[in-house]
Amino acid sequence: RRLRIFGGPHEPWIQAEGRRLLLLSSNNYLGLGTHPAVKAAAQEAVARCGVGSGGSRITTGTSEIHVGIERRIARLKRTEGAMVFSSGYMANIGVIPALAEEGDAILSDELNHASLIDGCRLSKASTAVYRHRDMNHLRRLLGETKSYRRRLIVTDGVFSMDGDIAPLPDLLELALKHRALVMVDDAHSTGVLGPKGEGTAGHFGIGHGIDVQMGTLSKALGAEGGYVAGSAELMDFLRNKSRTFVFSTALAPASAAAASAALDIMEKEPGLLDSLRSNGLRLREGLSLLGWRVAPGVTPILPILIGDSRRTVAAALALEELGVLVSPIRPPTVPEGTSRLRATVMATHTPEDLETALAALGEAGRRLGMIP
Ligand SMILES: *Cc1c(COP(=O)(O)O)cnc(C)c1O
Repeated sequence: RRLRIFGGPHEPWIQAEGRRLLLLSSNNYLGLGTHPAVKAAAQEAVARCGVGSGGSRITTGTSEIHVGIERRIARLKRTEGAMVFSSGYMANIGVIPALAEEGDAILSDELNHASLIDGCRLSKASTAVYRHRDMNHLRRLLGETKSYRRRLIVTDGVFSMDGDIAPLPDLLELALKHRALVMVDDAHSTGVLGPKGEGTAGHFGIGHGIDVQMGTLSKALGAEGGYVAGSAELMDFLRNKSRTFVFSTALAPASAAAASAALDIMEKEPGLLDSLRSNGLRLREGLSLLGWRVAPGVTPILPILIGDSRRTVAAALALEELGVLVSPIRPPTVPEGTSRLRATVMATHTPEDLETALAALGEAGRRLGMIP
């Protein structure tokens, strides 16, 4: 694998090594990474606070901007508190080992994101993996782990490579019955699901019962940084126990300010969420009509299943020749034999952009004999 060099911002059309390509693989779902008000907020923060935060959150790294974004996240998530980390990855590998220690058990969905898996690896707890979204399997594992002191169930809200959604109502019912804690990773749900972009809880209309809601400021919110939201007690605990919070320099002021502005815009411009949803539906429908195998769903992540990893890379290369950038996803990111193109839409794609994408996907698929 090699790193590609992109010029300019993540917008629907992107400059890549001298060419202009239609970007169908960004996590900047709402296009907020280039929104004028978001950029202005970041610039203002740099002017006021400089570029670095100068210390760990627990020493001298906490500024008003950090407190502001935390209040803003807690309001969105309707929790007592929130805390930010320098990335979502750092949040996951800091929070899981703090919550689950030796003598505890973690129950983890088999398709969870690598950062959740690494959090489990760093923890001294035993980890049991349940089949993807399989609540009967989870129920059995909860039965088998009764003797552990504390149980923690961890799941992606929206699964990053599949775009499907964790069955949270059923999962919470099981957790309640077995007195297990629940941690949901909303990296691809915040700014995507729920009437106001609240995330997975908002999607299901769940008001309480999720102990830990984590997520990132780097996807739909277009900035950078990670967060955890939950009770005031949980925040107190994690401020002291989470090693990536204590021993790593705080999020840059510009990132925190940008994310705050992005949250404001998401609230003030609900049309962005509507466009994201209708763009997802349009592309999904168009792909199915072309004969591509794409799983049904309501998120902006559209996995186009191909299977073989070489054929998947060939499809991505053919698309690029036709001017469309879609990420080929192979093992170890996904299980062997399930390689796929991971297409994502943005709220800022126009209907013409989507037709351009579908024309290329049709052409590439027919050329490679992957669709009729
Ligand atoms: C991207 C992602 C993360 C990590 O977030 P970063 O802010 O990019 O470090 C965590 N969990 C999931 C499910 C993700 O997709």
